[in-house]
Amino acid sequence: MVVAKKAVVIGSGFAGLSAAAFLAKSGWDVDVVEKHDQPGGRARHFHEHGFTFDMGPSWYWMPDVFERYFNCFNARVSDFYELIRLDPSYRIYWDNDQMDVPADYAAMKELFEHTERGASAKLDAFMEEAAYKYRVGINKLVFKPGQSLLEFLDKELIAGLFKLDVFNDIKSHIGKYFKHPKLRQMMEFPVLFLGALPENTPALYSLMNYADVKLGTWFPKGGMYKIVEAMHRVAVDQGVKFHFNEDVTSINIQNGVAKSISTKNGNQFNADVVVGAADYHFIETTLLEEKYRSYSESYWNKREMAPGCLIYYVGVNTKIPSLLHHSLFFDVSFQHHADEIYVDKAWPKEPLFYLSATSVTDESQAPHGSENLFFLIPIAAGLDGDTEEVRDHYFNVLSDRLMQKTGVDIRNHIVFKKSYSYSNFIEDYNAFKGNAYGLANTLMQTAILKPSCVSKKVNNLYYTGQLTVPGPGVPPSLISGEVVAGLIHKKYG
Ligand SMILES: Cc1cc2nc3c(=O)[nH]c(=O)nc-3n(C[C@H](O)[C@H](O)[C@H](O)COP(=O)(O)OP(=O)(O)OC[C@H]3O[C@@H](n4cnc5c(N)ncnc54)[C@H](O)[C@@H]3O)c2cc1C
Repeated sequence: MVVAKKAVVIGSGFAGLSAAAFLAKSGWDVDVVEKHDQPGGRARHFHEHGFTFDMGPSWYWMPDVFERYFNCFNARVSDFYELIRLDPSYRIYWDNDQMDVPADYAAMKELFEHTERGASAKLDAFMEEAAYKYRVGINKLVFKPGQSLLEFLDKELIAGLFKLDVFNDIKSHIGKYFKHPKLRQMMEFPVLFLGALPENTPALYSLMNYADVKLGTWFPKGGMYKIVEAMHRVAVDQGVKFHFNEDVTSINIQNGVAKSISTKNGNQFNADVVVGAADYHFIETTLLEEKYRSYSESYWNKREMAPGCLIYYVGVNTKIPSLLHHSLFFDVSFQHHADEIYVDKAWPKEPLFYLSATSVTDESQAPHGSENLFFLIPIAAGLDGDTEEVRDHYFNVLSDRLMQKTGVDIRNHIVFKKSYSYSNFIEDYNAFKGNAYGLANTLMQTAILKPSCVSKKVNNLYYTGQLTVPGPGVPPSLISGEVVAGLIHKKYG
């Protein structure tokens, strides 16, 4: 009888779930060890007073990536959850008016033309280019483990190097097509997911505009946690064993080889291979002795982090008239807030913010006549002063702004309210500098320039998740797990 090799995966976020399922599929005996009582990591959820709250991701973009994932296990997305396409995709509140971004492309072109003469034809040209980047990016770039430049020696990649716009920035790229400030901001918005200023983000990422405008914004009925449940189901069906409420305290190494991991409960899990799917910096600096770390503390301190965030989960006993599922409050200066995040690294004076209310689309998410509100303010990574007073201050700021736009003062309707920020990210996820979305996707932190998914010091230790290739976001995290499982399988069979 052939004995399956044993892999231990630390953490059950999207990347850990994905790595575990792919390893099990290729014959490994897999244990996933997770400190929380449920899988999902930053995408956990909770129920309170009849409200359901997804704790992290709320934008379901790139449905093709999810479909492909489940197809790899002979399943389909529709086996697990129903996807609803949102229309309008989202609303942007400006200072003096608002813009609903339609799902339908013809309606989107009309909106562009109405806002700026000639912009509809420009949108076609922009999207044609973005479609190319999306196709090449998804098929040829993101599935690379980033171990060597040789991985990118591909005819289409070399021929398309300039068309892929890796060396131009997306701010000027968008500026070449559109002049109206509102169109520019709308097109720059998806880049905010990538964690750097548009002027520091390669124009390659106009592929995100393609994802937004052409592929659409979707919602899994029942909430984003449906994705986690589905991935967990797939992993269990592949034979993966999950161990929840197990906080890993060390990776035990003998002669440069990881032999096992230990947990706070005094348990030990033996391994032929260990996959670190918790925050990379934490694994390196806390679970490993110094001599086994691939990167120094000064390396980490020089990384440019994506913004952190201040979040509020609020259940209110009223409906908010005309509210959409996703709303972006761009009613104050984009530039000032961006400078406070990336340049001054200060608490914002007048923050932009994002509001999601899944109860608008799905009645199961809140009691009848109520809304479940998720507010998110992006803030500079690693800020000091995450106090209750600061959190109260910003809650009043966004309540006032929501009242201005909708006429409803939610402070009079609160049934449940919870805030979540840096200190929670550190406590719950051991997040470096309390990061929410990992590293910024700048050119200097792309592909082979990201923290490596293979340990440089420990023979059989691998990393996956948003701090390594290909980067932050739900689709990249599940790709990350697949890439690492592929590397392990290639080496060990
Ligand atoms: C507020 C927020 C909003 C977001 N919005 C979106 C969005 O709309 N769309 C999108 O695509 N992406 C979004 N993202 C990004 C996306 O959620 C993340 O990139 C992705 O979930 C990261 O997955 P991961 O597996 O790398 O890490 P994680 O989800 O952090 O998983 C790591 C796991 O390791 C566990 N762990 C940590 N330490 C230990 C230990 N010592 N022992 C055992 N287990 C441990 C953690 O509990 C966790 O379960 C958002 C993120 C946040 C925080």
